[in-house]
Amino acid sequence: MTESILVVEDEEKIARLLQIELECEGYCVFTAGSGHEGLERYQAEQPDLLLLDVMLPGFSGIELLRRIRANDAHTPVLMLTAKGSVEDKVSGLDLGANDYITKPFQIEELLARVRAALRLASARSPKEPEHWLRAEDLELNEATREVLRSGIAVELTPREFDLLVYLLKNKRQVLNREQIMTAVWGYDYYGDTNVVDVYIRYVRKKIAPSGQSELIHTVRGVGYVLKDAP
Ligand code: CA
Repeated sequence: MTESILVVEDEEKIARLLQIELECEGYCVFTAGSGHEGLERYQAEQPDLLLLDVMLPGFSGIELLRRIRANDAHTPVLMLTAKGSVEDKVSGLDLGANDYITKPFQIEELLARVRAALRLASARSPKEPEHWLRAEDLELNEATREVLRSGIAVELTPREFDLLVYLLKNKRQVLNREQIMTAVWGYDYYGDTNVVDVYIRYVRKKIAPSGQSELIHTVRGVGYVLKDAP
């Protein structure tokens, strides 16, 4: 995923340089020229990292940092400070800036600091939950409701999708029709369970669009089991 960076800098030449260099590195870059604009863009874009100049029209980069840190302890913020401005550095770090870069800066050093701050932030943030269920080359994402066979999208109806999820979550377990009915149709079903057979047939056909291996096996007299090849 492309990481985004908000640059708040009123000196246009510097802002432009930063934008070009950061875009060359593959980041998505937003810019703002004042404290107020910076706050607005921060709220609108929710960037992965901020580069804040200290001296800005309106309120300063330090004040902007203070407002951001009131609700957001995690997004990395790098401050751009004038050479020798020790007070700016100290108050920035006190307010939760992750790093500061002294102007005039070497672009390579700035890019290295940006990479380091983003790496640290992503190492700290909890990993995305794993939503993919798999069997051989069948992949199903519960969150996005994508189903792929051999990398090609498979279209399922909501009920077929739920059925496949249940089978994948109980991989290698033999499930009887009543269990499947209850889990997928959501109620105790004492009547005709032929509907399970019908849906199994639909799903089998759809997840093997070009004659791929059979994943859903019939267990005679019992029900069904979804299995990978051993
Ligand atoms: Ca400035």
